[in-house]
Amino acid sequence: MIIRERFAPSPTGLLHLGHAYSALTAYDCAMQGGGEFLLRIEDIDQTRCKTEFENAIFDDLAWLGITWETPVMRQSERTNAYQNAIQSLWDRGLLYACDCTRKDIAIASAPQEDGEQILGPDGIIYPGTCRNKPRREIPNNAALRLDMARAIETLTKTYFTFNEIGIGPNQETGSIRFDANELINKIGDIVLARKDIATSYHLAVVIDDHAQNITHVTRGYDLFDATKIHILLQNLLGLHTPIYRHHKLIRDENGKRLAKRYDAMAIQSYRHKGFSPAMLRALFDTNA
Ligand code: GLU
Repeated sequence: MIIRERFAPSPTGLLHLGHAYSALTAYDCAMQGGGEFLLRIEDIDQTRCKTEFENAIFDDLAWLGITWETPVMRQSERTNAYQNAIQSLWDRGLLYACDCTRKDIAIASAPQEDGEQILGPDGIIYPGTCRNKPRREIPNNAALRLDMARAIETLTKTYFTFNEIGIGPNQETGSIRFDANELINKIGDIVLARKDIATSYHLAVVIDDHAQNITHVTRGYDLFDATKIHILLQNLLGLHTPIYRHHKLIRDENGKRLAKRYDAMAIQSYRHKGFSPAMLRALFDTNA
């Protein structure tokens, strides 16, 4: 098996120390194993992506000493692939259209007298308001949600496994087995297409990892639950499951996870301060 690793940034801001760690971990592993390293530009949300950030990605990675296969895949050019998958999930009755606004969702899931509001990692879990409003065709003015319970039902099993060669947020490693029903309670019916964007991150990433024959996915352990969604989608769509290497998160001086808007730890800022790539690598141990 030829190792194929990838780094898949979104050009919505400058890459920071955390991205450098992720990209170099993936790159080093690919090179040590005599494999290939691919770069994928995750630019599905055209309202937030900017050419200047895309150019900065190329500059930063080159400065780090990383080289990648060409041509570079761009998600903005892959709409057909995503739409085919959406159509097939729709035809199988696994998607439903949802025109709830954020406000509708907040009201529908407001805590009843003594109940508690159910919160997932991305906020309120969708209460399922639109789940049973059948529509014959995909409307073009609504989001599409995955009916999780139905999806799991069609797979005729609820336990799934993947191979973890890194570490999850709770030290998970090795063969990871999880109950997909856990996703229903923790994450709910996820959006697979927004009305203004033909696909979601989750859908695009599994389709593209498959199309690019990615054997190893290296990413921060903040995406550990997202990986479980990806395993479910791979099973639903008949796509392969790569090996996963989740890694620690790089943090700022207050111990907070780095965000793209935090320019102080942008790779560019270190470059301008006269750091070398080796000096930057030395920070990976101190900023974890
Ligand atoms: N575009 C995603 C990010 O920048 C990719 C993460 C992944 O799928 O590994 O966080």
